[in-house]
Amino acid sequence: MNQTSKPASILLIYTGGTIGMIQNPETGALENFNFDHLLLHVPEIRQFNLDIFSIAFNPPIDSSDMNAECWAELVGIIYSNYEQYDGFVILHGTDTMAFTASALSFMLEGLMKPVILTGSQLPIGALRTDGKENLLTAIEIAAAKNPDGTPIVPEVCVFFHEKLMRGNRTTKISAENFDAFESNNYPILAHSGIEIQYHRHFIKPYDPNAVLTPHYKMNTDIIIFSLFPGMQPQVVKKILQGKWLKGIIFRTFGSGNAPRAKWLTKALAKATEAGKIIVNITQCSTGSVKMNLYETGLQLLEAGIISGHDSTVEAALTKLMYLMGQGLKPETIRETMNRSLAGEISVTNEE
Ligand code: ASP
Repeated sequence: MNQTSKPASILLIYTGGTIGMIQNPETGALENFNFDHLLLHVPEIRQFNLDIFSIAFNPPIDSSDMNAECWAELVGIIYSNYEQYDGFVILHGTDTMAFTASALSFMLEGLMKPVILTGSQLPIGALRTDGKENLLTAIEIAAAKNPDGTPIVPEVCVFFHEKLMRGNRTTKISAENFDAFESNNYPILAHSGIEIQYHRHFIKPYDPNAVLTPHYKMNTDIIIFSLFPGMQPQVVKKILQGKWLKGIIFRTFGSGNAPRAKWLTKALAKATEAGKIIVNITQCSTGSVKMNLYETGLQLLEAGIISGHDSTVEAALTKLMYLMGQGLKPETIRETMNRSLAGEISVTNEE
């Protein structure tokens, strides 16, 4: 930053989660504490040459309680503060952080400022906390600009344990390690060591003409259904026939395979005929769905199931909620699921 330019301004949005919790000395339980205490525990924040403001969910929530209304609230906060701030840092529990990051990447269409989600495995007051490092680096990334003043990372990301990742590519992979998130099917966007090294080639390019269009509606008439050997036909059929059900994230084996049992293919075909959208996502943590590789996948294609490509479950689920929330026709949703909207799948949209 040159000497005369104004310090970047950052809005910290505290939703809850371990990062802001403190141990109740009487019960030993972790409880949310006031956001001002966060500043007390991390006085280093004041050393940044930045204007930092904060806002908190009231009350803060454990991220297990996150839902589509909370995502809409976050969208509203970012949209109404978009012009005033250069970047946003969302402090969030780790458990559902990948879902929130994915949802926001679709709901904040045309975003051209950093929205960095972070949290921690140990409360910020704990001696060996990972929260301090995560918070300070997330702030630095949210404020980082190119020499021409444009943001280096104009997209929704998760920063956790030295890695900056595209938000809709992340998954929580560990309940105990500090290195708790992975971006299995997309390279990391930056690595923080002594310096923060940005891998610019993988970061969404800045578009000066983009306009932020907030979306608040998510349709949650969805389930995640995971295949396993020994499934009971009557249970599966009952679920797929559910009148309320509009979308299914169908977690299959390997490269997108399912048992060849006639009852299953029939039940799936019936569900798609009824206008339900079924998206094939592999149970493997890396790699992509390729339904035309084996007969066990081909029959799914024939039943009208669409490929989730190399999407995470979190991204496929929230993308489907978002598209269904727009009130689009099933054909349009099917077609759009095959295109990348926010870098969530590795396909070229010209295909
Ligand atoms: N249960 C907590 C949450 O997700 C765990 C965490 O913050 O890491 O809110």
